[in-house]
Amino acid sequence: MTTRAPRRRPASQPIPRAVSLAASRGRSPVEIDPDKDLLDELEAKGPKRAMAVFAHPDDAEFSCGGLLALLCKRGWELTLVVTTSGNKGTKDPSVRPQQLAGEREEEQREAQRIMGANEPVFLGFPDGYVRNDDELRGLLVTWVRRLRPELVITWDGFRPGFNHTDHRETGRATYDAIFPAADDHLYHVLDKEEGLEPYRPSAMLLTGTVNPNYHVDIAPVLRTKARAGVAHVSQINGRTFEQTLAQYRERAEASKAAGEPGPYYKESFTKVIFRR
Ligand SMILES: [Zn+2]
Repeated sequence: MTTRAPRRRPASQPIPRAVSLAASRGRSPVEIDPDKDLLDELEAKGPKRAMAVFAHPDDAEFSCGGLLALLCKRGWELTLVVTTSGNKGTKDPSVRPQQLAGEREEEQREAQRIMGANEPVFLGFPDGYVRNDDELRGLLVTWVRRLRPELVITWDGFRPGFNHTDHRETGRATYDAIFPAADDHLYHVLDKEEGLEPYRPSAMLLTGTVNPNYHVDIAPVLRTKARAGVAHVSQINGRTFEQTLAQYRERAEASKAAGEPGPYYKESFTKVIFRR
């Protein structure tokens, strides 16, 4: 990932009150028009930085690999934060958790390399035990302040019905880290020692959602999504790149045959825009 120098001002240089207040709020100046396409709006007005937060290595690629590949193709800087290293994702009784975690981290790195994203960040919580608590929220606040993303992509942690607890907790922790914590300097005050300022992204896209209100046409990146997906060798039971592509095509044909509106290769999200 890209490292940035801490943003400190020289002590001898006083800051005018108005500028100082803007800096303390730390919000991006981007004002999003909710009636226009979100990505177009963000690209026209912001620095094209995105942060994805997921629970397990493979969540990002399987749930919204098309969106992430599209962001990279359109020149965004993308950093994925994974709350666990997926140390329980196997049915093989001979595999030790640490060994599995190491393999899955490497698969995740490879998948992100294929997309053209930054090196992913692993927070190291044990698979199945993620909690939306102070520790996780604090780490996410720090990463939001470090990366200063315009757009955050995560699980819909409020989806009703059956869901993996780690998906639910990771989604909710991300929500709670962004509002109110990351943009309030009284939360996680030790971040100041790293030179980090409060920050609030402009928007979120929630995946795994029941009533999506935002659809992304992923046709231009279908092959990249499939290649990144099959990088998760330990999770796909030998499925090949060609089989994955064929599966996407079957789904698209089925939705066309059912008379659903296009785009036929799409990923769907709940869009959340943060008011300034
Ligand atoms: Zn998962």
